[in-house]
Amino acid sequence: MTFENLNIIAPITQALKQKGYVVPTPIQEKAIPHLLNGSDVFGTAQTGTGKTAAFAIPILQRLYSNGKGHNSGIRALVLAPTRELAIQISESFSDYSKGLKLRHTVIYGGVSQNPQTTILRKGIDILIATPGRLLDLMNQGFVSLNSIEIFILDEADRMLDMGFAPDIKRIIARLPAERQTGFFTATIPNEIRALADSLLNKPVKVNV
Ligand code: AMP
Repeated sequence: MTFENLNIIAPITQALKQKGYVVPTPIQEKAIPHLLNGSDVFGTAQTGTGKTAAFAIPILQRLYSNGKGHNSGIRALVLAPTRELAIQISESFSDYSKGLKLRHTVIYGGVSQNPQTTILRKGIDILIATPGRLLDLMNQGFVSLNSIEIFILDEADRMLDMGFAPDIKRIIARLPAERQTGFFTATIPNEIRALADSLLNKPVKVNV
């Protein structure tokens, strides 16, 4: 099995080759086809399994293949529990999107918001964010979620452990009802199942 076999387009497979990825990991092999065809996905996977690429590659391919040009608003949102994870995800998007004209940025708390809002004002396609800073910038009018087509909640169980449930609910309330959602978690306590049920529409379940 290769990324070509998963129908990944050449500009992305070339970027993946530069990173040394030729064979998809199990979570990638299982999740990518469903995310590519627009289905919601409930994924159980630990970190280290390649789950970042499992959602980043289909986001890039869907947005690229359905190009809308500049200033069409933010089209994909990835929520992550920590600044470190958000930055890592953003670096993965940088690696995999070489050759695609898609713009992404990452926002998180604990640092000045000015460099972040400067980039947001120029327009981006993909936003990676931690919940607190995202809400903050939404409330100040720097971020609108009205154009989101794809929403990914990464490490959902850690988000709840860190007390982000109220923030996440406020963010979800502002997402368009018609969207694609990917939900990733390592464990499935009851609160996670309830959150997933409230977010996902006929999800395909994928686990590794
Ligand atoms: P993640 O679980 O997303 O944090 O990824 C774990 C590690 O696996 C990262 O260092 C990735 O760069 C690497 N990785 C992800 N997908 C592949 C792949 N298909 N082939 C080789 N390495 C990969």
